[in-house]
Amino acid sequence: MAQRRLRRDDYTVGWICALPIELAAAQELLDEEHEDVEHDENDHNLYSLGRMADQNIVIVCLPAGLIGNNPAAAVATQMKATFKSVRFGLMVGIGGGVPSTDSDIRLGDVVISQPQKGYGGVIQYDFVKTVPSGFQRTGFINCPPLMLLSAIAKMRASHLRQRSKLAEYASKLSHLQEFNREAAGPDILYEATYEHEGGSTCSSCRTDKRVDRPRRRAEETIVHYGIIASGNQVMRHATERDTVSAEFGGVLCFEMEAAGLMNSFPCLIIRGICDYSDSHKNKRWQAYAAGVSAACAKEVLSIIPPADIAKTSPLEDIFGKDSRGQIEQDYKDAHIREGESASLQDTYCIGASIPFCCGKHESVPANSCIALDLASEKSSASVYFILSGSDISGSFCWYSY
Ligand SMILES: [Zn+2]
Repeated sequence: MAQRRLRRDDYTVGWICALPIELAAAQELLDEEHEDVEHDENDHNLYSLGRMADQNIVIVCLPAGLIGNNPAAAVATQMKATFKSVRFGLMVGIGGGVPSTDSDIRLGDVVISQPQKGYGGVIQYDFVKTVPSGFQRTGFINCPPLMLLSAIAKMRASHLRQRSKLAEYASKLSHLQEFNREAAGPDILYEATYEHEGGSTCSSCRTDKRVDRPRRRAEETIVHYGIIASGNQVMRHATERDTVSAEFGGVLCFEMEAAGLMNSFPCLIIRGICDYSDSHKNKRWQAYAAGVSAACAKEVLSIIPPADIAKTSPLEDIFGKDSRGQIEQDYKDAHIREGESASLQDTYCIGASIPFCCGKHESVPANSCIALDLASEKSSASVYFILSGSDISGSFCWYSY
């Protein structure tokens, strides 16, 4: 059957992934594939277009070999510029789990970013600021869009009622050998203090160092909701993993792209767990984990009525090309002094580097006063604002550290 060709403006959901295996999973779960739209010569992204759960979505993968926060931000920015009707995004792929007594995370489970314990759902753990008492890990990260958080609430309820569609969607990948759970092998967790003995598998690792965990029902995928830690390096040490997690009151997963996206591309982070962020990590669970993360993303999409998406503002309106630089300039011109409060009428703050944060606000509603502490860290300060007329106010959070 000939593929349909839609207009760029027909696409309302942006889907970003980092690896070809994640892209393959996303493409397989499309209910309908669409023909490419005309290529924009300034856009280096290659898109896959289609329909999934009644939404027209545009999928993009980071360029081969490039992973991390900066490539993710660049790809998202380009996507927003080309597909001006995109309302929100999903970052879908694999991540390293953080098993703990609070969260029984297994390989093949899914972790979704959700605000918790004063954080917006994603923390950037390798953003370090020097303070008089030593140093502090800080970083401002936005919350996922409200509509997606509402969809999560509804999805959790349907999972509690055992009406999950996750297994049904994931089964669409079962004809591809690589995505099968059997291809992934056993799920083994080692004690955090026990380092990998070497080699590409754990065949030389001591069996008495394995953590005893109760058996799960076969093929059961549990979705966990909470904090995702994002950094520019791969986390591969269990003790460091647990230290960072404790510092932020419990992290569920480590990955490398979310921090680059959240402040300019409102999105939900959905990660299939493929290893335990420790020295024993290998790639065997990646395909299966990529598949379940894509299936979970499809379930999230299936919960949001397309008409509701159409009612929200496109990102292009919210993150207008010039508004950020202009308002930054407005603030510089305002000569705000140390400790002084400032306000810009009809403005929402969508993010600020942490040196600016006065540390006093838990959240700043639209049109409110935002106190800045300019004098302490002049050099590295930057503040981003967006104009009103959008519905993003609820997704903005400002945290004190
Ligand atoms: Zn090992």
